[in-house]
Amino acid sequence: MQATTPSAHDLPTPGVVTFVGAGPGDPDHLTLRAARMIGAAEVVIHDRLIGPGVLDLIPATAQRIAAGKEGFGPSTPQADINAAMIGAARSGARVVRLKSGDAGIFGRLEEETDALDAAGIEWRIVPGLTAAAAAAAAIGRSLTRRGRNGALTLLTGHDAEGFAEQDWRALARPGAVAAVYMGKRAARFVQGRLMMHGAAPDMAVTLVENASRADERILATTLARLPAAAACLDGPAIMLCGLAPHETAARLPELRKTLP
Ligand code: SAH
Repeated sequence: MQATTPSAHDLPTPGVVTFVGAGPGDPDHLTLRAARMIGAAEVVIHDRLIGPGVLDLIPATAQRIAAGKEGFGPSTPQADINAAMIGAARSGARVVRLKSGDAGIFGRLEEETDALDAAGIEWRIVPGLTAAAAAAAAIGRSLTRRGRNGALTLLTGHDAEGFAEQDWRALARPGAVAAVYMGKRAARFVQGRLMMHGAAPDMAVTLVENASRADERILATTLARLPAAAACLDGPAIMLCGLAPHETAARLPELRKTLP
C-alpha cells in the first residue's frame, strides 16, 4: 500500500528521539506514521499501558525498554527514562519513545523534551489518538455539541501533588463535559468537588474501561453513584462527566463485532 511505504522523509533519523503516540490500545488506532516509526525503530522505550498488539510491531532486532509509569503503582524514575533516551540517541540509534494515547496528554512529554534539549539531542513528536476520543466513540457520543458544551475539559484525577484541583464551578454547570484521566482513585474527590459546586446528583457520568481493547467495558452511572461504579474498575478508564451513552450505544458492541 502506497501510504505505508517508508520514505526517507518519514523514517526516524538516527540519533533523534521520536515521541510516538500509540493510541488507546488497539493497534488499529495507530496512525500510519506511528506504525512506520515503530517498524523502523532500533530502540523503543515504552510505557506500561502500551498494548501487546502495538508492541508486536516492534522489530525483533530492536532493543525494548519498558519504562513503566502507573498512577499509584511502581514506576521507573523519570531520570532513568531520560538517561535511557539520551544514551540510546547518543549511540546513534533510531529511538522511539512510545507513549499511550497522545504523548502530549498527561504523558510528561515536556519533562522529557526538556531533558533532551538540555542534552542537545533532537526530537520530534508523532501525535496519537487520546483515550477520551476512543471512550466517546465507544459510547456513541461527541465530546462537544453545539448548544450543549462549547468547551471540553481534559483533566487528571491526581497530579504530582496528590488530588488535582480544577475549576469545579465551571465543570459543575449543566451541559459541561469533562474527561477525567487517572480518575479511579479520585472518584470520590471528583464527586465531592462537583457536588460542592452545585452539580446535580443525577449528572450523567460514564466510565469507559480499556477503551478500544477487546475487554472494553462501559459503566453508565450518575455523579451520586460514581464512587461505587469506579470501585468496579480494574483497568485504565476514562470518566466522562456530563455524558451518558447514546441511546443507540447499546447496539454498538454488536455493530463493532460486524466491522471488518
Ligand atoms: N497519553 C494518554 C494518557 C496517559 S495517562 C492518552 O492520551 O490517552 C493514563 C490514563 O489514561 C489512564 O489512567 C486512563 O485514565 C487513561 N487511559 C489510557 N488508555 C486508556 C484506555 N484504553 N481506556 C480508557 N482509559 C485509558
